[in-house]
Order: sequence, then structure tokens, then C-alpha cells
Amino acid sequence: MDNCIFCKIIAGEIPSTKIYEDDDLLAFLDITQTTKGHTLVVPKRHTRNLLAMTPDDAALLFSKIPMIANKIVKNLDAKGMNILQNNEEIAGQSVFHTHVHLIPRYAEDDGFV
Ligand code: 5GP
Ligand code: ZN
Repeated sequence: MDNCIFCKIIAGEIPSTKIYEDDDLLAFLDITQTTKGHTLVVPKRHTRNLLAMTPDDAALLFSKIPMIANKIVKNLDAKGMNILQNNEEIAGQSVFHTHVHLIPRYAEDDGFV
């Protein structure tokens, strides 16, 4: 979709640090590292947010979250993870391409998420 920053990342027009990629989705580091390894998981097909997705597309996205989350937790030796997902401006959504936040948690972080 024109002027969607995450579509441009998926297309490789804007650089990102990729964590995982397959035919359906891309996971890349959030430019704001709330904690080390803060990752965004996005479906490759543009949708505004979860409220606009079909059940099948949402199921496909969420079916892969545990695998990606475990990869990050193990690689970074995190102690846990917050998984967050914002829909519409009033709920904190600032980029209008569906995305899931994976925020690793560590013993030494300050627990503000
Ligand atoms: P939201 O507030 O919509 O739930 O989350 C959007 C996220 O996208 C924010 O955490 C923000 O830091 C991240 N973000 C915005 N622009 C870029 C970008 O160009 N590259 C990357 N990697 N992350 C971005
Ligand atoms: Zn998009």
C-alpha cells in the first residue's frame, strides 16, 4: 500500500533488521528498543489492524508468534516477554499496518511496559 512504512520495509525500500521472514510475514526490530530485542511481527499483506483482518489471516499471523517469540527469548536469554497489539489511534496505534509487538523482559529491566 502506498505510503505505508511497514509495506516499504517489507518491500526492502526502507532498511530493517530482520529477525524472521517467510512467505506470509516478516519480523524485524522495532526502531524504538523498549527493551533489547523489541520486535514487530507484520503480515506481508497490508491490513490496517487486527480489527480489519479476516479470521484466517489473523490465525496465520498468530500461529507463528510462539515460534518467533521463543527464538528471541532463547537467543537473548530473556526471562519472559510482553506481547502487545494496538488497534486504532485511541488504543495507541501509530502505524496503520497490522503489527504485533514482542518485548523481551530481563531480570535487570525496570518493568515499565
Ligand atoms: P504502534 O504504536 O503502532 O503500536 O507501534 C508502531 C511501532 O513502529 C513503534 O513502536 C515504532 O517505534 C515503530 N516504528 C515506526 N517507524 C519505524 C521504522 O521506520 N522502522 C522500524 N523498525 N520501526 C518503526
Ligand atoms: Zn502496509
